[in-house]
Amino acid sequence: EVQQVSDLEKLQVLGSGNGGTVYRVCHNKSSKVYALKVIRGGATDQVRQEIEILRSCTDSPNIVQCHGVFEESFDDISILMEYVEAGSLDVLAKTLGSFSETIIANIAYQSLMGLDYLHSKKIVHRDIKPSNLLVTREMKVKIADFGVSKIIKSSENACNGSVGTCAYMSPEKFDSDGKDYNVFAGDVWSLGLTLMELYIGHYPYMQPGKEAENKSVIWEICFGEPPCMPEDASEHFKDFIQRCLQKDWTKRWTVRQLLSHPFIIGARQKVGIGSIKLGTKRENSVRSIGEIGELLERNLEFNK
Ligand code: ADP
Ligand code: MG
Repeated sequence: EVQQVSDLEKLQVLGSGNGGTVYRVCHNKSSKVYALKVIRGGATDQVRQEIEILRSCTDSPNIVQCHGVFEESFDDISILMEYVEAGSLDVLAKTLGSFSETIIANIAYQSLMGLDYLHSKKIVHRDIKPSNLLVTREMKVKIADFGVSKIIKSSENACNGSVGTCAYMSPEKFDSDGKDYNVFAGDVWSLGLTLMELYIGHYPYMQPGKEAENKSVIWEICFGEPPCMPEDASEHFKDFIQRCLQKDWTKRWTVRQLLSHPFIIGARQKVGIGSIKLGTKRENSVRSIGEIGELLERNLEFNK
């Protein structure tokens, strides 16, 4: 058990953003490795919420686990987490280029299990995107970064405050008419966009090489057609993404519905407890990437 931050040795910066800086750290006494998120500026209400959520999500294999919170100095607050060694999917995607359908089905299934857990506790993540999904060596997926998440209390209207990352936000959140929507449906849109990105190898609303302005991306999300999957994807995969990327949130599938979509069911049956089949062009490209390839060749067993 880690008693205080000074027992931890900082080894490396894993990432930094609006929320703070995340370090890989080593606990001197036990030699155990953890991730430590240091948030400067102290405990705002939102930071308190992030901590409350992490502390209440202790029994899902698909949510990053919290091992303690330290408030030692005046304006730093540190969250100790399990270290998820293969890192976040944005970084992995940069190394790998793109992911095969088999791997994406695996990621989809585990992310949905994580979201199902959250949604059943009335927690909306609100910032699902590649950099907030972490993976272990064994390709276990862990949802991280509750920096803009919220526990929905039954009495409040949660449909205000468009938070999150614009690029992954669902169309209804940009609508300022004050119309009610289901906040949980926003996580499904973001997941759909994330999974599509992992397959095609770039953010779906932007063509590689073309720098679009943020403004025109938001315009596309609100007024354009949802992005289209490439022809080479299977029918089940295309259908799955289409169910996530329904602009009208009333038509978008829920996490529960998606968990029994043929794309998920089929992949779970195919993978089973054996190893994944390598062979398609995409899978070969993944296999060649040293350590990551190794972990993918190993048992891609699902969490169940
Ligand atoms: P921010 O609010 O700044 O986005 P995150 O919690 O998303 O903070 O962490 C930033 C980055 O640090 C992540 O995208 C990921 O690459 C890395 N990271 C965060 N937590 C962990 C962890 N537990 N294990 C490994 N890497 C992590
Ligand atoms: Mg993040």
